[in-house]
Amino acid sequence: MISAIEISKTYHNSRTAALKNTNIVIDEGSINVIMGKSGSGKSTLLNILSGLIEPSTGTVYMMNKDYYRLSEKEKAQFRGKYFGYVFQSFQLIYELTVYDNIIMPLHITNQKVNEQAVYQLLKDLEIYHYMRSFPSELSGGQQQRVAIARAMIHNPKVIFADEPTGNLDSENSLRVIELLTRLCKKNQTTLLVVTHDKQLIKNPDHLFILKDGKLV
Ligand code: ADP
Ligand code: ADP
Repeated sequence: MISAIEISKTYHNSRTAALKNTNIVIDEGSINVIMGKSGSGKSTLLNILSGLIEPSTGTVYMMNKDYYRLSEKEKAQFRGKYFGYVFQSFQLIYELTVYDNIIMPLHITNQKVNEQAVYQLLKDLEIYHYMRSFPSELSGGQQQRVAIARAMIHNPKVIFADEPTGNLDSENSLRVIELLTRLCKKNQTTLLVVTHDKQLIKNPDHLFILKDGKLV
């Protein structure tokens, strides 16, 4: 699905590389965890693999395309079609209901809403009864499940999640991750999760550990 060859990243205002000559392959439909201490390069690696920041050196093939050779417009279209993103802060729109938050990406891109697909996602994430509620009426764990539904509404090939449980207590964290991984397996969606929590995902297909910008 994604393969990165000898990628490295040095930020403009930095003397040391945040990521050093890294090779990584992400298999289609696999559950992947990236771990490491704060500052080890997890977000940098995820952001490169998810098409958000260009590496300083190296090549990233996404579904056989040399992604960073595409134009800005082509990259944006590619991400919109194939990728879904989940963040530590849920980034919901608090003026909209749960339902309207979830269908937002379809609205923006002028796509038809398949009501049944929305209901199925709501059920899979156990938030069906909250579809007419507003995010502020939900717990953090429930809000993150809404954000996951929104990230999956267009049937992406890959979900990228950077510390998706960073704002949740341990009970809600496990629930969110359990539902997220179950849904990805069911839909054969590839999943990449960055976390520093060893306990979070019990049996990923691949566990990548970063130390000082290098995969160990
Ligand atoms: P985390 O450890 O949770 O991944 P960080 O605190 O490292 O998050 O980074 C938060 C944000 O600040 C990120 O968007 C990152 O790119 C940016 N950032 C981190 N370190 C620096 C830095 N030294 N200079 C500028 N921006 C930074
Ligand atoms: P992690 O996600 O593991 O906390 P990051 O990828 O956020 O690690 O950061 C790796 C290193 O790069 C850190 O030293 C961080 O301070 C630095 N860094 C991250 N983002 C930026 C940025 N935008 N500008 C400068 N330095 C950054």
